[in-house]
Amino acid sequence: MVIPLTIQFLPAKTKTHTISLEAKKYGYSPSRIIVNQGDIILFKPGSLDATHGFLLDGHPLEFIMRKGATFLKYTWEDDDGSLQSDWDRVPDVEFTADKAGKFTFRCTQTCGNLHPFMTGELIVRPNNSYYLFISLSIWLVFGLLLYMQSDTGAGFSGFNRINLLEKLPWLAKIFKLRSFQFLVILPNFIIFYLFIISSLRGSPVGNRNITIIFVWILWWFVLKAIIVPIGGRIWCMVCPLPAPAEWLSRRSLTGVRYVEKKFKALHHRFTGLQKDWPKITDNIWLQNILFLSLISFGIILITRPIATAFMFLGILAVSLVMALVYRRRIFCQYLCPVGGFLGTYSMASMTELRAVDLDICKKHREKSCFSGGPDGWACPWKQYLGTMNRNNYCGLCTECIKSCPKDNVAIFIRPFGSDHLLKGYDEMFNVIIMLVVAIAFSITMGGPWAVIKDAANVTESREIVPFFIYLASLWGSALLLFPGIFALVARLANRMAGNRVSNRTMTLRLAYIMVPVGIFAWIAFSLPMLMVNYSYILNVLSDPLGLGWNLFGTAHYPYKPFLPDWIPLIQGLILLAGLYFGISRGYLAIKDIVSNSISRTKAMIFPSIFALLIINILLKLYMG
Ligand code: SF4
Ligand code: SF4
Repeated sequence: MVIPLTIQFLPAKTKTHTISLEAKKYGYSPSRIIVNQGDIILFKPGSLDATHGFLLDGHPLEFIMRKGATFLKYTWEDDDGSLQSDWDRVPDVEFTADKAGKFTFRCTQTCGNLHPFMTGELIVRPNNSYYLFISLSIWLVFGLLLYMQSDTGAGFSGFNRINLLEKLPWLAKIFKLRSFQFLVILPNFIIFYLFIISSLRGSPVGNRNITIIFVWILWWFVLKAIIVPIGGRIWCMVCPLPAPAEWLSRRSLTGVRYVEKKFKALHHRFTGLQKDWPKITDNIWLQNILFLSLISFGIILITRPIATAFMFLGILAVSLVMALVYRRRIFCQYLCPVGGFLGTYSMASMTELRAVDLDICKKHREKSCFSGGPDGWACPWKQYLGTMNRNNYCGLCTECIKSCPKDNVAIFIRPFGSDHLLKGYDEMFNVIIMLVVAIAFSITMGGPWAVIKDAANVTESREIVPFFIYLASLWGSALLLFPGIFALVARLANRMAGNRVSNRTMTLRLAYIMVPVGIFAWIAFSLPMLMVNYSYILNVLSDPLGLGWNLFGTAHYPYKPFLPDWIPLIQGLILLAGLYFGISRGYLAIKDIVSNSISRTKAMIFPSIFALLIINILLKLYMG
């Protein structure tokens, strides 16, 4: 750490760099430009295919690159003080790198499907903020380990949970309304069908289609950064995708069809075969594989409206078939690719739905939450509140709040990262897959490497071999490399703690570290997507189908990233928060199996280094 820092501060003579900058779908060559502060760059730009743009974060430098011509944007102030701009045809562009740090340059001209991801990087040395964040991450780990060693038992425990329904009785009344879930799903349901229409009939160019922008930029960010960390699976409460299947299966939109005599342990009869999901697949392996399969085509899915439409229609069809064969929300619990990570990540969320008093549950013979009652359907997620101690498989449908005759169900606010127990390797692989995909997306979509984008974008590039190499790297990292390294880390941790528990127990407990780390990695990845592309949200709001409309006067709002030069710094802070929560919650996860604080601290050394490495891979990608 000291050597690179020292090198950074060595005075360097300023130089002039002449750079032939070639733009080609979807990248620049060179993709990374490294200079010293004060150096002059003489760009000789050129495009090899379509019209491309060049906008440098944090600098008033913008030009358009066409085959054989470059147009530089220049601005001036009017007599009345307003800023005017125009374009000047120029042979080359001179620029002085006067600010140190990492700056992304971005294409401003919609040049094709992957246009929003066409970027390059300018690194102006000394890139002090990057080295500062490396040091901070190391010091954070040191500090946490020192704190753990002196922990007398209450470390990282946070505040006591708060019963939200007790504090806000009107909320309980709303949740008890039979029509509650239908009413919260309905607006989403309408929007969802409009999105399907816009995907099929609207512009085929991703950033001109409302579905792509709203689903993959806005919703994805809100889901990862706000909904899951705060509300856990609250998306499942309002999700329109499985709703038609559930309505069909229940033959009701809002009411409960209660039968006095139980049928296969439930007080309801559903449409269809009413089978139960086989025990052998009572895990999330299928979800893991489906998620990885879908994500293998991730860059295609999130940039092609038609692909998104087919994904939605596919989910709709499969959920309908599942509902006609099986009882309850089998699609959500075992197949939905989004549901897998919602489940494991909801373990960290600040909300939980639980029984208020477990003794009441024990004594209540009917167990209406599980088997259903006159006022509420049997839990569609097969949960019994008397033993439910994690968020993973509670879809927050609020049926148990209605069905429980003892009024023994409540929603609580709790500290971030409260459920610590991963119960099987299927869940451990889920958190590893999510983490690997966050890193893979940061490289593929956030990085400047056109060759990787081409490999992932196989339907356009037609490069089959690179695509298979891309797939092999993704699947190999998610299913072999990262799990292998983590298994080794967990074994070492167990040995350091004196091998008091089985390696499996220690591995599953420590794997929890990757839940907060993963959540924050996803936030760090998704936030810039929103900051950079928010202008597309305004554009598609006025012209949702890309048909030249201008409903709210924002169809031509210019492409203007929001505070783009702050992005690396914000990402660095988010990653440090992930490191803190990952290590501190991992420590809590082994508290009851390693009671001695010194042994516990020893056990945390290698997992903390593992988390530090993950965070530093991402710091390198975002800031280095
Ligand atoms: S119905 Fe209510 S009291 Fe009975 S087991 Fe379920 S949550 Fe507990
Ligand atoms: S536990 Fe309650 S809120 Fe959660 S899925 Fe089951 S019935 Fe719905």
